[in-house]
Amino acid sequence: MGAAPSEVQQQWQQVRALLRAEIGDTAFGTWLKPLDLVEVAGDRAVLAVPTQFMRDWIVANYADRIRILWTRLNPTVRSITLVVRPPGAEPAPPAAPAVRAAEAASEAPADELSARLDPRFTFETFVVGKPNEFAVAAAEKVACSSSPPFNPLFLYGGVGLGKTHLMHAIAWRMRQREPGRRVVYLTAEKFMYQFILALRSKDTIPFKELFRSVDLLMVDDLQFIIGKDSTQEEFFHTFNALVERGRQIVISADRSPSDLDGLEERIRSRLSWGLVADIHPTTYELRLGILQTKAEAAGVDVPLRVLEFLANRITSNVRELEGALNRIVHQASLTNRPVSIEMAQEILKDVLRANDRRVTIEEIQKAVVEHFGLRLADMTSARRQRSVARPRQVAMYLAKLLTPRSLPEIGRRFGGRDHTTVMHAVRQIERLVAEDRQLAEDVEALRRRLQG
Ligand code: ADP
Ligand code: MG
Repeated sequence: MGAAPSEVQQQWQQVRALLRAEIGDTAFGTWLKPLDLVEVAGDRAVLAVPTQFMRDWIVANYADRIRILWTRLNPTVRSITLVVRPPGAEPAPPAAPAVRAAEAASEAPADELSARLDPRFTFETFVVGKPNEFAVAAAEKVACSSSPPFNPLFLYGGVGLGKTHLMHAIAWRMRQREPGRRVVYLTAEKFMYQFILALRSKDTIPFKELFRSVDLLMVDDLQFIIGKDSTQEEFFHTFNALVERGRQIVISADRSPSDLDGLEERIRSRLSWGLVADIHPTTYELRLGILQTKAEAAGVDVPLRVLEFLANRITSNVRELEGALNRIVHQASLTNRPVSIEMAQEILKDVLRANDRRVTIEEIQKAVVEHFGLRLADMTSARRQRSVARPRQVAMYLAKLLTPRSLPEIGRRFGGRDHTTVMHAVRQIERLVAEDRQLAEDVEALRRRLQG
């Protein structure tokens, strides 16, 4: 080991100069200047750092960049290994590894700041339909641009509608198109965690240094840092620093910037400067399209009417839809039975029931007043005559049956009634449907209508 051959030393000096230009003198002086080239062995460049802490930081922030720059100069160098060598320590003799190398000399990962990307989440596997076409177009635009077409791209939508999938797709596409770029995808929670780590290390370097050399930063589920004031603040600094440097930022949340209550006003307004793209709840057509694509990808023959059945009945989100299909496919292959609607009904009893229950109290009230020829105000009024009170009880009963709302909540929605009133209504209707055929038919018709 000892002195590396001069050619390699020269490459290292070039890499250092490039890095210095990229990250600025301050960060360079703190983090990269103390790095020493130990050797280049095979396709590995081995660098020594004085402390474990510095090693972790460099691995997290710069190792990948060093590797990329070096590979450009010398394609045989494919990985960077960092070893800890306290100042003044003798370079290790050739036979033995450098000090603490055994524990410290792991390969630099793709990018330690970035969470793992799911290889299945690409644009190719994302099914486009009316509800998401705008978001997909925006995501593709970002992934295929060399400078930010809009900053930030803010993606929002309900759970399981494809936000994370699209972000990973952007990362994959960018890495494929421009492998030299530093792409970091992480959840807002992980962002917070990084921030806390930086605080704990009592580091004087601003937190944003950590993210400074990132070309494309994606923060998923931003709603999680709302109310966490100092994290929020640091996020904002990082955000501004990157935007100033012309780096792309992509954010996701379950709500639009204007609905992110608890977020500081200046941050909220800053988030809407770029492009805000929402992913709408799925339509039947999109659900069917997704099911067809996934069934095909799984190489399983699922009859169209089963797919239609699922697309009809599982309307909550794509994750559940996928889960349902997987369960059916799995069961079919286990039992060697062909896939049928009956089988789907049997296996998915719980999921189907949960989806059936997603009816709102408003919908119930509307359906009930239409059915009985009343006015919406009758649902909340104090009128007690049977022609009004009975349908109101039916509506309360259906609210209990078809929504996850509690008795007090239901009472509140029916003109501020007490929960005991709701309970009484539920019992009353339960008893009556057993003996009053007409009422039983009314209730059944309403239930079917509400559950589609
Ligand atoms: P979110 O982050 O919005 O909660 P995800 O991106 O995790 O949702 O999506 C949930 C699951 O549904 C993932 O497995 C994803 O691949 C799948 N998915 C969502 N939308 C689509 C779509 N349009 N086409 C294909 N798969 C989708
Ligand atoms: Mg997600």
